Amino acid sequence: MSRFWSPIVHTLTPYVPGEQPRIAGLVKLNTNENPYPPSPRVAEAIAAEMDNLRLYPDSVSWDLREAIAEHHGVAVEQVFAGNGSDEVLAHTFRALLSHDAPLLFPDITYSFYPVYCGLFGIAYEAVPVDEAMAVRVEDYRRPCGAIILPNPNAPTGRALPLSDIERLVCSHPDQVVVIDEAYVDFGGESAVALVDRFPNLLVIQTFSKSRGLAGLRVGFAIGQRPLIEALERVKDSFNSYPLDRLAIAGATAAMKDKAWFEETRGRIVASRARLTAGLQALGFEVVPSAANFVFARHPAREGLALAQALREKAVLVRHFNKPRTTDYLRISIGTDAECDRLIAVLKEILA
Ligand code: PMP
Repeated sequence: MSRFWSPIVHTLTPYVPGEQPRIAGLVKLNTNENPYPPSPRVAEAIAAEMDNLRLYPDSVSWDLREAIAEHHGVAVEQVFAGNGSDEVLAHTFRALLSHDAPLLFPDITYSFYPVYCGLFGIAYEAVPVDEAMAVRVEDYRRPCGAIILPNPNAPTGRALPLSDIERLVCSHPDQVVVIDEAYVDFGGESAVALVDRFPNLLVIQTFSKSRGLAGLRVGFAIGQRPLIEALERVKDSFNSYPLDRLAIAGATAAMKDKAWFEETRGRIVASRARLTAGLQALGFEVVPSAANFVFARHPAREGLALAQALREKAVLVRHFNKPRTTDYLRISIGTDAECDRLIAVLKEILA
């Protein structure tokens, strides 16, 4: 606390990121990173860009947006790029989700959403997911200013079919509906397919998960021009150069390497099935996941105690200490060797 702070700083409850500790031999399954390195073309593209670092980057990230547009079959002008999808989300909250009526999002969801609401003074209502941790789109038929939803949801991993997303977007023609698709490449159906039909739909994705580039900080949004223009106006009132030259070059190369993308995401999806079976064999209930993590609880053990016992054996998973999630562990999908280590350590703990 300091008398020098702007008043709002006293009111903030900042987001708490998963820890990044330096422990030798750590099995790190707590922040949904990709267990595989990015495409080798990323390093080549970054190396080739080094001599240009004396120059400012392209403020509109044109080459990157072109690669994203090509991958998704949309126009370059329908793509907005930012410094991680967290920054794209922040601009979205400010540009499109701040209205008199409350913003709606699930009660169990990405815990950054209420943080942005605090920062930007946005009123919100949390809509409970059902007992099976599923989002019910019918529950969003209530007065609201806008809606945001991850699909697949985090930290549950549950995905809604595209038909549900379409119903949600259709039933709110006068509100913006944002679908946060950070994890969509691991088994979800992307709502980008709906963007041309719905002026109120914005889809946000990231290079942090399926492209293995959490450290490069690149995310993007796809929508019709008026929504994208709102993001551009906020971005250019905040930071004209959010993406540096290395990020633009590296992410563009990653987007173009389709073979690497398919190979690595396929491996993660296969490991998810294997890990799910391993956890179930130990008595865990595992929420069906379309993401690069699983959300699981053991009927006889407390989530926090399990997470702590795992940490003592150098295996990190994420625990969310809130009433509806406290029984659960969120476990990122690692390599098969990392998942095997987790299962072996859990066996010891449960014995
Ligand atoms: N959305 C969701 C649902 C997430 O879980 C995350 C990862 N913490 C993000 C967005 C942000 O990812 P990034 O900023 O790395 O793109």
